[in-house]
Amino acid sequence: MNFYSLNRKAPQVSFKEAVIAGIAPDKGLYFPESIIPLSSTFFKNIEGLSNQEIAFRAIHQFVKEDLSDQTIKEILSDMLDFDFPVVQIQENISTLELFHGPTMAFKDVGARFMANCLGHFSKGKNEEVTVLVATSGDTGGAVANGFLGVKGVNVVILYPSGKVSEIQEKQLTTLGRNITAMEVDGTFDDCQNMVKTAFIDQEITSKKKLTSANSINVARWLPQLFYFLFAYKQAKSKGKEIVFSIPSGNFGNVCAGIVAQRLGMPVKHFIAATNINDTVPNFMISGEYIPKPSSATISNAMDVGDPSNFVRIRQLYDNNFKKLSQNLSSYSFSDDETRSAMQHIYHTSSYVSDPHGAVGYLGLKKFLEKHPNTYGIFLETAHPVKFLDVVQDTLEISLEIPKQIKKVIEKQKISHKISSYEELKSYLLNS
Ligand SMILES: *Cc1c(COP(=O)(O)O)cnc(C)c1O
Repeated sequence: MNFYSLNRKAPQVSFKEAVIAGIAPDKGLYFPESIIPLSSTFFKNIEGLSNQEIAFRAIHQFVKEDLSDQTIKEILSDMLDFDFPVVQIQENISTLELFHGPTMAFKDVGARFMANCLGHFSKGKNEEVTVLVATSGDTGGAVANGFLGVKGVNVVILYPSGKVSEIQEKQLTTLGRNITAMEVDGTFDDCQNMVKTAFIDQEITSKKKLTSANSINVARWLPQLFYFLFAYKQAKSKGKEIVFSIPSGNFGNVCAGIVAQRLGMPVKHFIAATNINDTVPNFMISGEYIPKPSSATISNAMDVGDPSNFVRIRQLYDNNFKKLSQNLSSYSFSDDETRSAMQHIYHTSSYVSDPHGAVGYLGLKKFLEKHPNTYGIFLETAHPVKFLDVVQDTLEISLEIPKQIKKVIEKQKISHKISSYEELKSYLLNS
């Protein structure tokens, strides 16, 4: 299968080329030239399949020219070694817990898949690849963990100083080896702009092979469609139409969900729930896409004012607003509403949700008001311990710190403090 640039001014490329390049030469996001539905028997018999088998069937068409069946299976068994449980919290409302991986955030799966692919593609080559990534929180930890020790790949992570949680910061600054953390005096948008500038800076790109590990990279983005299939496998027996509510920032996860639907998975509707960074909710009202600077919230992994993957979602509907609105709703919620939702979930269901999951819950509730006869699943994208202060203050409880997090907290932070693009550039040119 080939991938084309959504800006349509660059040649089509293979999966391998798309993964290595990250973004097309015309700055467009890569997109698969087709999505061929899986057989109806696959969905009929999905309960009898293991997660690895489901993932293999789902990803095969996109990668088969560049990865042998054996390699795909090895990669999948390496990365899918934890659970993705659907946990019922109220009648007709469940949460899909995506935080059982090594860094306790949903980005572990995409990061590991991409790390494995890139490691595989750079085997036997002398040229090293540098993965350059900006993070508003969780991406950094998952990418650092996924790429740690991968031969031929160096990782440079930019994060906004003081704007990620302590645990998140430790997860990306304590690993060492091929992982370097850049602590930027600025916002997430500043980090992202530095990364974008580096990608088009020929002084750098003539010397170094750069790629991105944000969800613009097809190897980070596409495997996220597995979650929805794993959830469907568990929820199918309810016999009701299913809707998914996805707490959204860069809109990669919800976009992957829609791809799962295109593969033939029965879903009635998607809800993309956001914090006050409401560019997409506004678009769904007005039809006009007006990006804006991001605002800081308690669900900081979703503080994105110009979500990169939204162009992919629009493409899935041929840029037809009406068709898109029939399958996707998007709502925005304030921090106060998010805190109230966390309290409500805790007091009615004894379930501790993190701020991102709570935004997903709010989106689902809003949709269900008008569509009561459906089975709703909201995605819990991070373990509550990753947002320890907010969760403990809001719920007035104290959380037990899991082992893998304790280990990280005790380690020493090592970061390079930078405040301008020039400092990043000089690091990249001289390292
Ligand atoms: C990245 C992230 C999100 C947003 O996912 P997108 O695919 O960028 O929309 C939501 N919650 C958490 C915890 C995240 O880390």
